[in-house]
Amino acid sequence: DADLATVDPEVATAVAAELHRQQSTLEMIASENFAPAGVLEAQGSVLTNKYAEGYPGRRYYGGCEHVDVVETLAIERAKELFGAEHANVQPHSGAQANAAAMVALLEPGDTILGLDLAHGGHLTHGMKLNFSGKLYNVVAYHVDNETGRVDMAEVERLATEHKPKLIIAGWSAYPRQLDFAEFRRIADAVGAKLMVDMAHFAGLVAAGLHPSPVPYADVVTTTTHKTLGGPRGGIVLSKQEYAKKINSAVFPGQQGGPLEHVIAGKAVALKIAASEEFRERQERVLAGATILAERLSADDCASAGVRVLTGGTDVHLVLVDLVNSELDGKQAEDRLHSIGITVNRNAVPFDPRPPMVTSGLRIGTPALATRGFGADDFAEVADIIATALQPGFSDATREELRSRVTTLAEKHPLYADLS
Ligand code: PLP
Repeated sequence: DADLATVDPEVATAVAAELHRQQSTLEMIASENFAPAGVLEAQGSVLTNKYAEGYPGRRYYGGCEHVDVVETLAIERAKELFGAEHANVQPHSGAQANAAAMVALLEPGDTILGLDLAHGGHLTHGMKLNFSGKLYNVVAYHVDNETGRVDMAEVERLATEHKPKLIIAGWSAYPRQLDFAEFRRIADAVGAKLMVDMAHFAGLVAAGLHPSPVPYADVVTTTTHKTLGGPRGGIVLSKQEYAKKINSAVFPGQQGGPLEHVIAGKAVALKIAASEEFRERQERVLAGATILAERLSADDCASAGVRVLTGGTDVHLVLVDLVNSELDGKQAEDRLHSIGITVNRNAVPFDPRPPMVTSGLRIGTPALATRGFGADDFAEVADIIATALQPGFSDATREELRSRVTTLAEKHPLYADLS
């Protein structure tokens, strides 16, 4: 059998170039991470060949005895890690986990209450072009203009007024913890179910460094590739009473055959996430984000019109407000890209610029922590970013910062065995 380079040199070349990009630049997209070699191996295994519609012990195909072992391991590890009564590990993605959870809990036309996309929510929490915005009647809550924090008084007011069937707590771009107990109280007061989408902060929850939503929510969804550091995919956790509905919403409701090679990767990632090494890594994730927030709050940044939203962070990311900077989000993203730091531009709440441009950046620390970054390294990368966002950025500055990035990248080699 021919290997990739022989059978398809064009794809092989692009894969090699991507490996080089990941190794030689600093990845600070808050939703990204580096899956460990064991996860990559599981994903590249012969499990990709297997059809296994159904669930362990109840499949619609023969020959499932080994994938049953793998999927059962993933289910049991997910339940154990998060203290959940039920886990479905089959969703192909976070969006599909959310779709399944909503199908299980709602009828089309029901009202849902979620965080506005422009204020840090996710597409699947009710954006109008998404299935969630098309199938359901969406009411959106927001962050407070002054504090940048979720306005719980507004959540309560909207819940009382619109009587949603489902309240969604969770975010894609928000630097603080949510008050799950308060969401539960509001949901109970209006007879709503509560779904928490912990896609971003699941790794912090697994490490015990962020409150767990599991005791409060009817259903908790997550991706497995962000702070959790596993393969791309989704998981739905729930109380036992929703188990049947969730399972049937995933299959046959939303999907056909599960991706057992990815589920194997999830099992491996969940095992790693229960380890002491993983907890220590998540501590560095949080410490790095705090170091970054502090550096970007210094006087030189304030004078350049660079502001840290909410004044800091409790999680793995920092949101930078550039409304008063000479740079818009796109220019800032491009400038950091030019020195080898990858981030994404992000709308800030009440953003005056269009979504393709934006006035902010979202900068995360999980991938660098996985690479081995400690406090000193995060202080250095924070200083590089702060310097890059100053006015008067010249070609000489670019060269100097690019070389500091290279020094950090070389200090923390990535996937050394793959190259
Ligand atoms: N939920 C939240 C909060 C997210 O941030 C994301 C992805 O960014 C998703 C769900 C969707 O995950 P996926 O991209 O795997 O569909």
